[in-house]
Amino acid sequence: MDCLFCKLVAKEIPATILFEDEDVIAFEDIMPQAPVHFLVIPKKHISTLNDIKEEDAAIIGKLPIVASKIAKEKKVDQSGYRVVMNCNEDGGQTVYHIHMHVLAGKQMTWPPG
Ligand code: 5GP
Ligand code: ZN
Repeated sequence: MDCLFCKLVAKEIPATILFEDEDVIAFEDIMPQAPVHFLVIPKKHISTLNDIKEEDAAIIGKLPIVASKIAKEKKVDQSGYRVVMNCNEDGGQTVYHIHMHVLAGKQMTWPPG
């Protein structure tokens, strides 16, 4: 399958990996939008939030657990962070393999643009 993040999971393209287990991989975003910006993704290819199935619940449930562990390692858990999952065009999704953005290290604004 021609998916950028599947290639990243397969180590066919390089990434700065922060965490990896059998279900999940987390890595630094290549174009950080904040002093801390990493992505947490399931290794399984799921295109969008709309495609998550009941049987994916355990894997998807690991994403925020991994996100908060890395946030703690990066010492932004207390100052805070923003978690974002973009879905489809209006959501601003550009890579069609679901991913949780974790952004920190500056004051986020609300609402997002
Ligand atoms: P989206 O716009 O789909 O929510 O987010 C895609 C994210 O993937 C963007 O923040 C973008 O910078 C990041 N990204 C795109 N290509 C690569 C890549 O090859 N490596 C890494 N580490 N991040 C990427
Ligand atoms: Zn994929």
